[in-house]
Amino acid sequence: MEVRIGKKIFSGVAVGKIRFYSKTDNCVERVKIADVNAEIDRYESAKQEAVRQLNVLYEKALVEVGETNAEIFNVHAMMLDDDDYNESVHNIITSQGINAEYAVAKTGDNFAEMFANMSDDYFKARSADVKDITQRVVTILSGGIENSEIGDEPVIIVAEDLAPSETVQMDKSKLLAFVTRLGSANSHTAILARTMGIPALIGVDICEEWNGKIGIVDGYEGKLIVDPDMELLESYFKKKAADDEQKQLLQNLKGKENVTKSGQKINLYANIGNPSDLAAVLDNDAGGIGLFRSEFLYLEAEDYPTEEEQFQAYKKVVETMGGKKVIIRTLDIGADKQAGYFGLDKEDNPALGYRAIRICLTRPEIFRTQLRALFRASAYGNLAIMYPMIISVNEVKQIKAISSAVKEELVQEGIKIGNVEEGVMIETPAAALMSDELAKEVDFFSIGTNDLTQYTLAIDRQNAKLDPFYDAHHPAVLRFIKMVTENAHKAGIWAGICGELGADTDLTEEFLKMGLDELSVSPGCILPVRKAVREAE
Ligand code: PEP
Ligand code: MG
Repeated sequence: MEVRIGKKIFSGVAVGKIRFYSKTDNCVERVKIADVNAEIDRYESAKQEAVRQLNVLYEKALVEVGETNAEIFNVHAMMLDDDDYNESVHNIITSQGINAEYAVAKTGDNFAEMFANMSDDYFKARSADVKDITQRVVTILSGGIENSEIGDEPVIIVAEDLAPSETVQMDKSKLLAFVTRLGSANSHTAILARTMGIPALIGVDICEEWNGKIGIVDGYEGKLIVDPDMELLESYFKKKAADDEQKQLLQNLKGKENVTKSGQKINLYANIGNPSDLAAVLDNDAGGIGLFRSEFLYLEAEDYPTEEEQFQAYKKVVETMGGKKVIIRTLDIGADKQAGYFGLDKEDNPALGYRAIRICLTRPEIFRTQLRALFRASAYGNLAIMYPMIISVNEVKQIKAISSAVKEELVQEGIKIGNVEEGVMIETPAAALMSDELAKEVDFFSIGTNDLTQYTLAIDRQNAKLDPFYDAHHPAVLRFIKMVTENAHKAGIWAGICGELGADTDLTEEFLKMGLDELSVSPGCILPVRKAVREAE
């Protein structure tokens, strides 16, 4: 039995088999081989296995995300059949007498670079696909398991680190818990774990040999126990039962108002990243959706989601929520949220870099496609739009000009649109300080405390080493929240919080005193926050 301590990301108890999730090693070893023909056969069988996997993925995606999105797996299978690609692998094996893994990796690198250097955006984007199929074949040749397939039984995922794009591709119904060595408490992977409502730990000294062993994740005490003895296992089964009972008690708060003892009310909304999170939203009785991180639609895709694909996703969310408010944030990609097909450059300071609204304003075709999809979906429910990473009134004016033009265009086309509130996220000190001016331009403020804390305290939220310095209750951040709320109210608009701080029940009473109108939290935090509101004076 081994016990490791880590940092708690989401509470709860999970008991189950550990699945060690390792990224394929990019430094494939170059090994001389004796039998060139046998090596070519090995490559050909690995290729066949890759095509089989892609067909399975195609069928699965067809059911889950529709034909257009599933098509990418067919494209990947076709790429594996490409004569030039295959000729290159065969040549490297025969001319150099070396192993298939190396020949495939080398071919993949060469082809990916060739595509990346093409001027046409479509071909540029294929570079990521070549890398993807190459990785798949190399993984098979090295006897590994395809990463995004986590098997049929629910597992505890143990990994060095997880990127948001990897996390979103996992089958959520098979995830019992996450444990990673790297990552920070404020990263998007941590946020995803909270959205899924599963126990999660970071900063754990992990070990590959645990793969397949039984593990216990104690999200209350920040512990991972590997290979527990029977006695401990039984005590944790009891702890899990007690935990489930507590959760059950919170269920009694469903249908109850978010109202303090003295009668002050507040809206409690949910944060989501995908229409598949809707079940959790409804199950936890959220009053609406306060933050739909639309960039996750882009992260899950292999290419820019089309207007129609986005329209269908937004429509599904607003329709499912009935008349309840659904605030969709426009694309907030960049920094830790990377999708290969955007072709974003590597930056020295990504958090301070080319991201979010900065990309939308400089690549208006992407922004306009998303706005068209959003306004079209607005006819099917109560949809609001908010814009991330704002730093100036000037930016808001530019956004409003584009948004008005898109609305006008849709009206000209005879497309019905709803009455859409447009707000901004206050997540930079500049926006907080300018909130009196910004309030005159928009319908609401949603305070993104994750980034507001990062930029106010000058602490990279991705850097786990800085977690001890990341004081979520820092008075500077709390003063900003109070000031922004007051400025919103002076201008007659509403203000909410959609960062993780909104779920901190130690602050619920203070937020109520500040007069915040809304808190938007992970679905699993709605009922605990409702409890705190109802217990407040
Ligand atoms: C925030 O910054 O608080 C926020 C809600 O946005 P994200 O966490 O997605 O950056
Ligand atoms: Mg943010």
